[in-house]
Amino acid sequence: MNDVRTYRAASMQEALDIIRREMGGDAVILHTRQFAQRRLLPWKKPVEQVEITAGLGVNIRTPARPAAKRQAVPAPTRPRVPENISGRELDGVVFERTTTDAQIAGAEASLKQALRSSAPSQAAPSRSNPRPPAQPAASPLPAEFATKLDSIQKMLQELGRGGIAAGQSEVPPELFHLYTGLIDAEVEDAIAKDLITRLKQTAGPEQLHDANAALSLLTAMVETEIRCSGPIAPQPGKRKVVALVGSTGVGKTTTIAKLAANFRLRDGVKMGLVTVDTYRIAAVEQLRTYAEIIDLPMKVVTSPPEMRRALDELAGLDLVLIDTAGRSPRDELQIKELKSLLAEATVDEVHLVMSMTASAKSLEATAQKFAAAGTTSLIMTKLDEAAGMGALLSVARKVPLPFSYLTTGQDVPDDIEPANPTRIARLILGREKLQT
Ligand code: GDP
Repeated sequence: MNDVRTYRAASMQEALDIIRREMGGDAVILHTRQFAQRRLLPWKKPVEQVEITAGLGVNIRTPARPAAKRQAVPAPTRPRVPENISGRELDGVVFERTTTDAQIAGAEASLKQALRSSAPSQAAPSRSNPRPPAQPAASPLPAEFATKLDSIQKMLQELGRGGIAAGQSEVPPELFHLYTGLIDAEVEDAIAKDLITRLKQTAGPEQLHDANAALSLLTAMVETEIRCSGPIAPQPGKRKVVALVGSTGVGKTTTIAKLAANFRLRDGVKMGLVTVDTYRIAAVEQLRTYAEIIDLPMKVVTSPPEMRRALDELAGLDLVLIDTAGRSPRDELQIKELKSLLAEATVDEVHLVMSMTASAKSLEATAQKFAAAGTTSLIMTKLDEAAGMGALLSVARKVPLPFSYLTTGQDVPDDIEPANPTRIARLILGREKLQT
């Protein structure tokens, strides 16, 4: 039976990966095209998109079509590992460096190698792939775009009626641009409207008529809503125990590797790792590889008594990072189990790791469920895969936890940065970009 599907993704590789996963290795590529998806935000460049049509069981008879165009989907390639892993300091942690540059270079080279060799296991079916499914492109107007248009249309009607700006006679066009900009950045419609209404009430007439001034005021308003905890700050001689929790596939192990490499190799922190990943053997091995390369002690625990013993054995260190198994947020029992494991570790901080590829609603639900595990801050991952940064604002409004870190790619150790309110506000409003 013929099965022809069209997918869109941010890159050819991503689209091929999805086709391979969803249609299998026998899928044949029938058509590819690249196009620039226009953004509503005037100050943002169009987003490059790739569209691939692939078929299974398709018998192509047209001799005119060159055979070369019908390649079988190629084997998976490895995650992007840029040649230059240059150091970016994590703010606020100052330690005497005990590692030589040669050791760092050697360890980073091995780290790259380990990433390369761990690539196939990342694609294994047991590891749920968190990337958003490519959008089947059958409909001429994608649903997401239709929703945005709908919001903008309603807003226009309200602006026309003066509904949004009760008590004020004129609505400057700058507000409309800002509103569409917020929608384009994936800010929820209700939040976008609320911000525009408040901006209208707060700004003086001159600010409202000056596009830059209005944008600056809006950025400042957003910034006041963003709370950040600052990065993990170990103090020599006073052991800090920090756990990362969150659903499977959000990037906990990768984030631990980034943190460990930065703290150990760059700042010389005396640290160790613990993993309570009891169900995913591959992830235990992945962390063990990192631990060996970075030259860190690592313990694997499966029960509260083992956790206590592991922490006893890691006494005398300045920082212990705990990686935890991905657990479904719907499973209360498992979260309770996680809670009792963490209680044995007498954790100082519990960072909830959540991926920006999830919807604002599901991020809120996940945060609520994991609250029972004693979460203290939020690490948002995969900003590089998000269509817009608006979910950061939804999370800031609906989840009562500060942000600690943002992660922006698969590259260990570079693609991580401490969360900062100004930066987050500017990212949301498209005034700053992620480093690529
Ligand atoms: P865990 O199950 O929560 O431990 O997740 P992993 O650390 O195993 O990560 C799952 C996948 O997400 C891996 O392929 C990682 O390379 C990838 N990943 C982690 N962080 C990021 C990020 O910031 N951006 C992108 N694009 N991928 C990431």
